Amino acid sequence: MFVLPQEIHVFSKEKINKMKNFYKDSIIDIPQGAVFRAKTSNAVITAYRSGKVMFQGKSVEFESIKWVDEVIGSANKTNTAAKKPKHNFAPPSTIFTMSHIGSDEAGTGDYFGPVTVASVYVKQEQIAKLKEIGVQDSKNLTDTTIRRLSKEIVDLDITYSLLVLRNPKYNTLKTRGWSQGKMKAMLHHHAIGNVIKNVGHDSYEGIVIDQFCEPGLYNKYIGGENEKSAPRTYFITKAESHSIAVAAASIIARTSFLKEMDKLSKEIGITIPKGASQHVDKAIAKIIKEKGHKVLDSCAKTHFVNTKKAEAYL
Ligand code: MG
Repeated sequence: MFVLPQEIHVFSKEKINKMKNFYKDSIIDIPQGAVFRAKTSNAVITAYRSGKVMFQGKSVEFESIKWVDEVIGSANKTNTAAKKPKHNFAPPSTIFTMSHIGSDEAGTGDYFGPVTVASVYVKQEQIAKLKEIGVQDSKNLTDTTIRRLSKEIVDLDITYSLLVLRNPKYNTLKTRGWSQGKMKAMLHHHAIGNVIKNVGHDSYEGIVIDQFCEPGLYNKYIGGENEKSAPRTYFITKAESHSIAVAAASIIARTSFLKEMDKLSKEIGITIPKGASQHVDKAIAKIIKEKGHKVLDSCAKTHFVNTKKAEAYL
Protein backbone atom coordinates (compact mmCIF):
# COMPACT_ATOMS: atom_id res chain seq x y z
CA MET A 1 0.00 0.00 0.00
CA PHE A 2 1.19 3.53 -0.75
CA VAL A 3 1.31 5.62 2.40
CA LEU A 4 1.74 9.38 2.25
CA PRO A 5 4.52 10.72 4.48
CA GLN A 6 3.29 12.18 7.72
CA GLU A 7 4.60 14.02 10.74
CA ILE A 8 2.97 14.53 14.10
CA HIS A 9 3.90 17.31 16.50
CA VAL A 10 2.44 18.69 19.71
CA PHE A 11 2.12 22.46 19.79
CA SER A 12 0.81 25.04 22.27
CA LYS A 13 -2.67 26.52 21.97
CA GLU A 14 -1.13 29.87 20.96
CA LYS A 15 0.84 28.31 18.16
CA ILE A 16 -2.22 26.43 16.90
CA ASN A 17 -4.21 29.67 16.86
CA LYS A 18 -1.39 31.35 14.99
CA MET A 19 -1.41 28.48 12.48
CA LYS A 20 -5.17 28.69 12.08
CA ASN A 21 -4.84 32.35 11.17
CA PHE A 22 -1.91 31.64 8.85
CA TYR A 23 -3.88 29.00 6.92
CA LYS A 24 -7.17 30.93 6.91
CA ASP A 25 -7.41 30.93 3.10
CA SER A 26 -6.67 27.23 2.84
CA ILE A 27 -9.10 25.76 5.38
CA ILE A 28 -11.00 22.64 4.29
CA ASP A 29 -13.60 20.48 6.06
CA ILE A 30 -12.92 20.33 9.81
CA PRO A 31 -13.11 16.81 11.27
CA GLN A 32 -14.49 16.13 14.72
CA GLY A 33 -12.17 17.09 17.54
CA ALA A 34 -10.09 19.30 15.27
CA VAL A 35 -9.42 23.03 15.56
CA PHE A 36 -8.79 23.34 11.83
CA ARG A 37 -7.75 21.43 8.75
CA ALA A 38 -5.98 23.15 5.90
CA LYS A 39 -4.61 22.01 2.57
CA THR A 40 -1.57 23.55 0.87
CA SER A 41 0.45 22.36 -2.10
CA ASN A 42 2.81 20.62 0.34
CA ALA A 43 0.52 18.94 2.83
CA VAL A 44 -2.77 18.61 4.64
CA ILE A 45 -2.46 20.02 8.15
CA THR A 46 -4.87 18.95 10.86
CA ALA A 47 -4.68 20.52 14.32
CA TYR A 48 -6.55 18.84 17.18
CA ARG A 49 -7.79 20.34 20.42
CA SER A 50 -5.36 18.08 22.29
CA GLY A 51 -2.49 20.08 20.76
CA LYS A 52 -1.58 17.33 18.33
CA VAL A 53 -0.90 18.60 14.81
CA MET A 54 -0.66 16.17 11.91
CA PHE A 55 1.07 17.00 8.62
CA GLN A 56 0.32 14.61 5.76
CA GLY A 57 1.33 14.83 2.14
CA LYS A 58 4.15 14.49 -0.32
CA SER A 59 6.21 17.41 1.03
CA VAL A 60 5.31 17.51 4.72
CA GLU A 61 8.77 18.71 5.64
CA PHE A 62 8.26 22.03 3.84
CA GLU A 63 5.11 22.69 5.80
CA SER A 64 6.15 21.47 9.25
CA ILE A 65 9.49 23.30 9.16
CA LYS A 66 7.63 26.61 9.34
CA TRP A 67 6.38 25.67 12.79
CA VAL A 68 8.85 23.21 14.25
CA ASP A 69 11.79 25.53 13.68
CA GLU A 70 10.05 28.55 15.08
CA VAL A 71 11.91 28.41 18.39
CA ILE A 72 15.25 28.34 16.59
CA GLY A 73 14.00 31.07 14.25
CA SER A 74 13.19 33.48 17.05
CA ALA A 75 16.49 32.76 18.76
CA ASN A 76 18.25 33.75 15.55
CA LYS A 77 16.15 36.86 15.34
CA THR A 78 17.37 38.07 18.72
CA ASN A 79 20.93 37.49 17.60
CA THR A 80 20.60 39.43 14.35
CA ALA A 81 18.63 42.20 16.04
CA ALA A 82 21.51 42.70 18.43
CA LYS A 83 23.97 42.94 15.55
CA LYS A 84 24.46 46.30 13.93
CA PRO A 85 24.69 46.29 10.13
CA LYS A 86 28.29 46.12 8.94
CA HIS A 87 27.87 48.79 6.28
CA ASN A 88 26.85 52.43 5.84
CA PHE A 89 23.87 51.74 3.60
CA ALA A 90 21.31 50.99 6.32
CA PRO A 91 18.06 52.86 5.71
CA PRO A 92 17.17 55.61 8.19
CA SER A 93 14.23 54.17 10.14
CA THR A 94 12.13 57.25 9.36
CA ILE A 95 11.72 56.30 5.69
CA PHE A 96 9.48 53.30 6.47
CA THR A 97 6.62 55.64 7.35
CA MET A 98 7.24 57.86 4.32
CA SER A 99 6.94 57.42 0.55
CA HIS A 100 9.58 54.94 -0.53
CA ILE A 101 10.50 52.23 -3.03
CA GLY A 102 11.00 48.60 -1.99
CA SER A 103 12.57 45.82 -4.02
CA ASP A 104 12.63 42.06 -3.51
CA GLU A 105 13.04 38.85 -5.50
CA ALA A 106 11.74 35.29 -5.64
CA GLY A 107 12.85 31.99 -7.12
CA THR A 108 16.56 32.32 -6.47
CA GLY A 109 16.75 29.22 -4.28
CA ASP A 110 14.44 27.13 -6.43
CA TYR A 111 15.94 24.73 -8.93
CA PHE A 112 13.00 25.05 -11.30
CA GLY A 113 11.53 28.27 -12.56
CA PRO A 114 12.71 31.82 -13.16
CA VAL A 115 14.08 34.53 -10.93
CA THR A 116 11.51 37.28 -10.49
CA VAL A 117 12.18 40.74 -9.09
CA ALA A 118 9.61 43.37 -8.18
CA SER A 119 10.12 46.98 -7.18
CA VAL A 120 7.20 48.83 -5.69
CA TYR A 121 6.67 52.50 -4.98
CA VAL A 122 4.44 53.10 -1.97
CA LYS A 123 3.20 56.60 -1.26
CA GLN A 124 2.98 57.61 2.37
CA GLU A 125 -0.83 57.75 2.20
CA GLN A 126 -0.98 54.17 0.84
CA ILE A 127 0.87 52.58 3.76
CA ALA A 128 -2.21 52.25 5.98
CA LYS A 129 -4.28 50.75 3.18
CA LEU A 130 -1.64 48.11 2.41
CA LYS A 131 -1.44 47.17 6.07
CA GLU A 132 -5.22 46.99 6.22
CA ILE A 133 -5.49 44.50 3.34
CA GLY A 134 -2.92 42.33 5.12
CA VAL A 135 0.34 43.05 3.34
CA GLN A 136 3.17 41.77 5.53
CA ASP A 137 6.26 39.60 5.46
CA SER A 138 5.39 36.93 2.88
CA LYS A 139 7.25 34.31 4.89
CA ASN A 140 4.25 34.41 7.22
CA LEU A 141 1.74 33.92 4.39
CA THR A 142 0.58 30.88 2.43
CA ASP A 143 0.89 30.84 -1.35
CA THR A 144 -2.90 31.14 -1.63
CA THR A 145 -2.93 34.30 0.48
CA ILE A 146 0.09 35.67 -1.39
CA ARG A 147 -1.68 35.27 -4.75
CA ARG A 148 -4.82 36.99 -3.44
CA LEU A 149 -2.84 39.86 -1.91
CA SER A 150 -0.80 40.36 -5.06
CA LYS A 151 -3.98 40.94 -7.04
CA GLU A 152 -5.26 43.37 -4.41
CA ILE A 153 -1.97 45.32 -4.41
CA VAL A 154 -1.87 45.55 -8.19
CA ASP A 155 -5.51 46.68 -8.24
CA LEU A 156 -4.59 49.63 -6.02
CA ASP A 157 -3.04 52.59 -7.78
CA ILE A 158 0.51 51.47 -7.14
CA THR A 159 3.53 51.98 -9.36
CA TYR A 160 5.64 48.88 -9.68
CA SER A 161 7.97 47.07 -12.04
CA LEU A 162 8.16 43.31 -12.32
CA LEU A 163 11.01 41.59 -14.13
CA VAL A 164 11.14 37.89 -14.94
CA LEU A 165 14.45 36.26 -15.81
CA ARG A 166 13.36 33.00 -17.45
CA ASN A 167 15.53 29.91 -17.45
CA PRO A 168 16.96 29.97 -21.00
CA LYS A 169 18.31 33.51 -20.48
CA TYR A 170 19.41 32.70 -16.92
CA ASN A 171 21.39 29.69 -18.14
CA THR A 172 22.96 31.71 -20.95
CA LEU A 173 24.09 34.42 -18.53
CA LYS A 174 25.50 31.74 -16.24
CA THR A 175 27.52 30.28 -19.12
CA ARG A 176 28.82 33.78 -19.82
CA GLY A 177 30.20 33.84 -16.31
CA TRP A 178 27.54 35.83 -14.50
CA SER A 179 26.96 34.78 -10.91
CA GLN A 180 23.40 34.58 -9.65
CA GLY A 181 24.25 37.54 -7.42
CA LYS A 182 25.09 39.66 -10.43
CA MET A 183 21.85 38.65 -12.17
CA LYS A 184 19.87 39.63 -9.08
CA ALA A 185 21.70 42.94 -8.76
CA MET A 186 21.01 43.83 -12.41
CA LEU A 187 17.34 42.83 -12.11
CA HIS A 188 16.88 44.96 -8.98
CA HIS A 189 18.72 47.82 -10.60
CA HIS A 190 16.52 47.77 -13.72
CA ALA A 191 13.25 47.25 -11.84
CA ILE A 192 14.08 50.19 -9.55
CA GLY A 193 15.09 52.26 -12.60
CA ASN A 194 11.72 51.53 -14.24
CA VAL A 195 9.86 52.71 -11.16
CA ILE A 196 11.94 55.89 -10.89
CA LYS A 197 11.30 56.65 -14.56
CA ASN A 198 7.61 56.69 -13.64
CA VAL A 199 7.61 58.53 -10.35
CA GLY A 200 10.72 60.71 -10.56
CA HIS A 201 13.60 61.17 -8.12
CA ASP A 202 11.83 63.68 -5.91
CA SER A 203 8.85 61.56 -4.94
CA TYR A 204 10.62 59.05 -2.71
CA GLU A 205 12.57 59.28 0.53
CA GLY A 206 14.64 56.26 -0.26
CA ILE A 207 14.94 52.87 -1.95
CA VAL A 208 15.10 49.77 0.21
CA ILE A 209 16.56 46.58 -1.24
CA ASP A 210 16.13 43.37 0.67
CA GLN A 211 19.83 42.73 1.15
CA PHE A 212 21.10 39.60 -0.61
CA CYS A 213 24.76 40.60 -0.72
CA GLU A 214 27.03 43.29 0.72
CA PRO A 215 26.15 46.72 -0.71
CA GLY A 216 29.73 47.11 -1.95
CA LEU A 217 29.39 43.95 -3.98
CA TYR A 218 26.01 45.06 -5.36
CA ASN A 219 27.59 48.30 -6.56
CA LYS A 220 30.48 46.35 -8.05
CA TYR A 221 28.08 44.12 -9.97
CA ILE A 222 26.14 46.96 -11.51
CA GLY A 223 29.29 49.03 -11.94
CA GLY A 224 30.62 46.19 -14.09
CA GLU A 225 27.80 46.93 -16.51
CA ASN A 226 28.53 50.68 -16.37
CA GLU A 227 25.54 51.37 -14.16
CA LYS A 228 25.24 53.29 -10.91
CA SER A 229 22.71 52.85 -8.14
CA ALA A 230 20.08 55.55 -7.73
CA PRO A 231 20.45 58.19 -5.03
CA ARG A 232 19.31 57.10 -1.56
CA THR A 233 19.57 53.34 -2.18
CA TYR A 234 19.66 51.41 1.09
CA PHE A 235 20.18 47.78 2.03
CA ILE A 236 18.87 45.85 4.99
CA THR A 237 18.35 42.15 5.64
CA LYS A 238 14.80 40.95 6.40
CA ALA A 239 13.68 44.20 4.78
CA GLU A 240 10.12 42.94 4.30
CA SER A 241 9.60 43.04 8.05
CA HIS A 242 10.55 46.75 8.13
CA SER A 243 9.24 48.11 4.85
CA ILE A 244 5.71 47.69 3.51
CA ALA A 245 7.04 48.47 0.02
CA VAL A 246 9.47 45.55 0.23
CA ALA A 247 6.69 43.34 1.66
CA ALA A 248 4.48 44.27 -1.32
CA ALA A 249 7.39 43.69 -3.72
CA SER A 250 8.03 40.30 -2.20
CA ILE A 251 4.34 39.34 -2.64
CA ILE A 252 4.30 40.46 -6.29
CA ALA A 253 7.59 38.70 -7.07
CA ARG A 254 6.48 35.50 -5.36
CA THR A 255 3.11 35.46 -7.15
CA SER A 256 4.82 35.94 -10.49
CA PHE A 257 7.15 33.06 -9.65
CA LEU A 258 4.19 30.82 -8.76
CA LYS A 259 2.40 31.69 -12.01
CA GLU A 260 5.54 30.97 -14.03
CA MET A 261 5.83 27.60 -12.26
CA ASP A 262 2.20 26.81 -13.18
CA LYS A 263 2.96 27.70 -16.80
CA LEU A 264 6.11 25.58 -16.92
CA SER A 265 4.32 22.59 -15.36
CA LYS A 266 1.64 22.86 -18.03
CA GLU A 267 4.17 23.17 -20.86
CA ILE A 268 6.21 20.19 -19.69
CA GLY A 269 3.21 18.14 -18.61
CA ILE A 270 4.79 17.31 -15.26
CA THR A 271 4.13 19.22 -12.04
CA ILE A 272 7.48 20.73 -11.17
CA PRO A 273 8.23 21.20 -7.47
CA LYS A 274 9.51 24.30 -5.72
CA GLY A 275 12.69 24.37 -3.68
CA ALA A 276 15.85 22.37 -4.19
CA SER A 277 15.40 19.30 -2.00
CA GLN A 278 15.58 15.60 -2.78
CA HIS A 279 11.99 15.85 -3.97
CA VAL A 280 13.31 18.07 -6.75
CA ASP A 281 16.09 15.61 -7.65
CA LYS A 282 13.46 12.93 -8.28
CA ALA A 283 11.40 15.28 -10.45
CA ILE A 284 14.52 16.11 -12.50
CA ALA A 285 15.12 12.39 -13.11
CA LYS A 286 11.50 11.96 -14.20
CA ILE A 287 11.79 14.86 -16.64
CA ILE A 288 15.07 13.58 -18.08
CA LYS A 289 13.55 10.11 -18.56
CA GLU A 290 10.33 11.32 -20.13
CA LYS A 291 11.38 14.47 -21.99
CA GLY A 292 15.14 14.33 -22.35
CA HIS A 293 17.95 16.27 -20.66
CA LYS A 294 17.63 19.27 -22.97
CA VAL A 295 14.25 20.30 -21.54
CA LEU A 296 15.98 21.32 -18.31
CA ASP A 297 17.52 24.34 -20.01
CA SER A 298 14.03 25.76 -20.54
CA CYS A 299 12.72 25.21 -17.03
CA ALA A 300 15.61 24.91 -14.57
CA LYS A 301 18.68 26.64 -13.16
CA THR A 302 20.90 23.88 -14.48
CA HIS A 303 24.06 24.89 -12.59
CA PHE A 304 22.46 23.89 -9.27
CA VAL A 305 23.98 20.74 -7.79
CA ASN A 306 20.54 19.07 -8.14
CA THR A 307 21.26 18.34 -11.82
CA LYS A 308 24.13 16.09 -10.70
CA LYS A 309 22.24 14.66 -7.74
CA ALA A 310 19.35 13.61 -10.00
CA GLU A 311 21.65 11.07 -11.68
CA ALA A 312 21.16 8.84 -8.65
CA TYR A 313 17.54 8.37 -9.71
CA LEU A 314 18.13 7.67 -13.38
MG1 MG B 1 14.55 38.78 -0.41
